[in-house]
Amino acid sequence: MQYRRLGSSGLQLSALSFGAWVTFGSQIGRDESRNLIAAAWDNGVNFFDNAEGYAKGRAEEVMGDVIADLRLPRDGYCVSSKVFFGSAEEPAPTQRGLSRKHVTDACHAALKRLRVDYLDLYYCHRPDAETPISETVLAMDTLVRQGKVLYWGTSEWSGAQIAEAVAFARANHLYAPSMEQPQYNLLHRSRVEREYAPLYADAGLGTTIWSPLASGLLTGKYNDGIAEDSRLGQSSLGWLQASVLGEPADDRLGKVRRFTALAAELGESPAQLAIAWCLRNPQVSSVILGASRVSQLEENLRALDVLARVEEGAWQQIEAIFA
Ligand code: NDP
Repeated sequence: MQYRRLGSSGLQLSALSFGAWVTFGSQIGRDESRNLIAAAWDNGVNFFDNAEGYAKGRAEEVMGDVIADLRLPRDGYCVSSKVFFGSAEEPAPTQRGLSRKHVTDACHAALKRLRVDYLDLYYCHRPDAETPISETVLAMDTLVRQGKVLYWGTSEWSGAQIAEAVAFARANHLYAPSMEQPQYNLLHRSRVEREYAPLYADAGLGTTIWSPLASGLLTGKYNDGIAEDSRLGQSSLGWLQASVLGEPADDRLGKVRRFTALAAELGESPAQLAIAWCLRNPQVSSVILGASRVSQLEENLRALDVLARVEEGAWQQIEAIFA
């Protein structure tokens, strides 16, 4: 495993980390979740990503239970939560968004579900138009000073919103956001590469990126249709299909088919190539992997070998496909 600094902070995260979205507490059972965390840990993964909204809090409960069961040493791993969506079926008006109240209550609830005394990373899962950014920054600063959170950050905020949070924190001697959690993959890249560009040097921003495989699309598993036992085949995730496959004019599947054909020519796994492409960006602190079975995770964790093996010419061919 390779370890990278989280932006300009001193935290060393594994370049490949592991997340619970739509799998823990829903798509897969407790035993498979345990096997996945064990396999990740055995391969050097030291960051496990979660959120209050994943399976309405159940994903955090399963992760907390499994980490306790595996007796992972608390000083060796990092765990995250995210606040915004709430964890109830129909959250009370006070239990969603980024108000001081919800940011505080959601942190306390995540600590209980994950069975830890502090969150290593705590994210604002989306921007909240109904709460001033200053209120959220103050609430996060309080949690850091109380020792309940070590690093706080954002997820899918605009560059301007992050810059506003950083400026307010600096002007008032408060803890500023250390990281952003954006989507980043071969099909979705402009925010990380362009919009956030000034923030890496100016604010020391790190990134822990999500959906490196575009929900599995980049493995080529949807090239010839949608299997029932895949993420996009689940009836409860119908909403995801449209966003992953995009508008017909985007021809996402056409690009992926050309990409998987090139991977075959190179003798490489498309999943590993797509993840290695994310790792090539030095602004990426950690690529958060998702998996519904251990064989997928084991394949994906070998992306670091691909990074060392694939030559510049092949990367240029890949860029040309997705240009
Ligand atoms: P990916 O894009 O890597 O998708 C993972 C899914 O793709 C797996 O669950 C599996 O689905 C399929 N897959 C993975 N590897 C393979 C393989 N080798 N061969 C075939 N199929 C494979 O990542 P996620 O979308 O899961 O995102 C990763 C993490 O990022 C999440 O767990 C979460 O922690 C975080 N995240 C954060 C968000 C945010 O808003 N901050 C939003 C989304 C995710 P299947 O087998 O079911 O087809």
